[in-house]
Amino acid sequence: ATPHRPPPRPLSAHSGYGHRMEFAEFAARAAEIEAEPADLETVALVADLFEAADADLPIVARFVQGRVFPAYSERTLDVGPRLCREAVARAAGTNVGPGDVEDRLAETGDIGAVAAGYDFGGQRGLGAFTDAGDDALSVREVYDELAGLAAAAGSGSEDEKVATLFGLLSRCERDDEARYLARLVLAEMRIGVGEGTVRDATAETFDVPVDAVARALQVSNDYGLVAETARDRGADGLDSIHLEIGRPVKAMLAQAGSVADAVAAWETVVAEYKYDGARVQLHHDPDGRTGIFSRNMEDVTDALPEVVEFAEAHLDVPAILDGEVVAIGDDGAPLAFQEVLRRFRRKHDVERMREEVAVELRAFDCLHADGDDLLDAPLVERHATLTDLLDDADAVSDLLRSDDPDEIEAFAAEALAAGHEGVMLKDPASAYTPGKRGKQWLKRKPDVETLDLVVTGAEWGEGRRAETLGTFLLSARTDDGYETIGKVATGLDDEELADLDERLEPHVRDEDGQTVVIDPAVVLEVGYEEIQRSPTYSSGYALRFPRFLAVRDDKDPADADSLSRVERLAEKQG
Ligand code: ATP
Repeated sequence: ATPHRPPPRPLSAHSGYGHRMEFAEFAARAAEIEAEPADLETVALVADLFEAADADLPIVARFVQGRVFPAYSERTLDVGPRLCREAVARAAGTNVGPGDVEDRLAETGDIGAVAAGYDFGGQRGLGAFTDAGDDALSVREVYDELAGLAAAAGSGSEDEKVATLFGLLSRCERDDEARYLARLVLAEMRIGVGEGTVRDATAETFDVPVDAVARALQVSNDYGLVAETARDRGADGLDSIHLEIGRPVKAMLAQAGSVADAVAAWETVVAEYKYDGARVQLHHDPDGRTGIFSRNMEDVTDALPEVVEFAEAHLDVPAILDGEVVAIGDDGAPLAFQEVLRRFRRKHDVERMREEVAVELRAFDCLHADGDDLLDAPLVERHATLTDLLDDADAVSDLLRSDDPDEIEAFAAEALAAGHEGVMLKDPASAYTPGKRGKQWLKRKPDVETLDLVVTGAEWGEGRRAETLGTFLLSARTDDGYETIGKVATGLDDEELADLDERLEPHVRDEDGQTVVIDPAVVLEVGYEEIQRSPTYSSGYALRFPRFLAVRDDKDPADADSLSRVERLAEKQG
């Protein structure tokens, strides 16, 4: 059923191609959308807005989601709540201070409501000082002013930004204009329009298949470009939107999974080391710039000069690669993730840090090669292209194809032994789906190794469990006795508690109020999140989030884990 469409609004005084939308009209429609609870109706209202937007369609398609620039763009407003509050206070008039704005904000939690609550219309005269003349504020002007604001940087830029916002707010004659302007600046429109709504509205307004819109969005991340292309050039136009060197796409993501899951799903499995670094998308143009982007499409090129140099030396066709940047020690072995973080996104002292921590690329996928988009090609084909393209085998992930779980497990053990985080398991036939966390890529990190520890004490439970021992003191074995390392109280059900009580009772040596001392006799297997150094226990270590897994009936205290094993595990986790 076609959702009901409201009659045209009186505000829309437009006349064919080239019409510029007034910001008041955008705001009035945004208010209508915000008031509409039903998804289908919301899509219809956004579709109406797109139709009315005319020449401003690209801007409106972003504004409606609270974006000023395309998602991949480096440009950001960089306006925080404080600057926004300051601008609102200034526009509200001489007797309103930031304190008043803050108080109102504390009440509603919505800068839009606060801005809408002041009378900026009375400041119209002030608007004249901003050179904008007397015309009503347009969507285009809002965009241009905000783009100018985004370009402002360096000392004094805060004042400049407040001045720009003040100028815009002063020209808001209607409550709604101020409401949505303030929210737009802080990138939270709160009108219930997300990426899916814009996708559906684009398809509905311009009568193009929703799949074609979705695909075009995946490769461009530019809602403005996609909406405009759908309108002007239809489905064929959308199909002609391709990946572009220099314009990043979202990274394909993984779910957690096991070797058994993978073999069951695909029979033949691709396994690769899971490098412990930072995700990067490398865009290389031999005749132009090499760009490196984070998994969130942030430009991190300047922080990683050696990766740029590497691409320049080893790639001679235009390409988009997906991979991981890892830190490498003097011995060639990978360093901990924390070391990579000292390099990633760094803006200052890049050259100095480069001396301290060397990074290298480990590429595992290829999205584009020499004019061809490869997103729909099977993984193994993309990987083969990658291997051809990059004339340095060390920089390309080793890929194991196997249907034998034992072989894959052995590969995983090898990965861990070489200092990697684990293995990735991938469907050999799968396409590259930007931004999706699907089942085609599984990540298998090692389970944290459990510890078998001796119970050397306990505490009585509380409340309902006051009659049984509820918390157990755990110790690791040393050459001449036992040293405590933590307490476990979670992971036991009533039956297990009763069972433990019975086992421990004969070994209770001493009792002091809530606590009892127990002679070493019972061994528990425990899981934990991390081993930490800690003065709390006599071993000098403590378990973070310990949980009971099992009673190790098969083990005597002499078979329990030693303190030196605890030390080794602690070292291994870095
Ligand atoms: P995690 O913290 O486990 O890295 P994540 O949320 O950053 O998770 P996921 O998609 O869940 O990302 O896990 C896969 C991540 O593993 C990738 O984002 C990438 O950074 C990293 N990685 C390392 N080696 C590979 C590889 N060979 N193939 C794919 N991803 C890899």
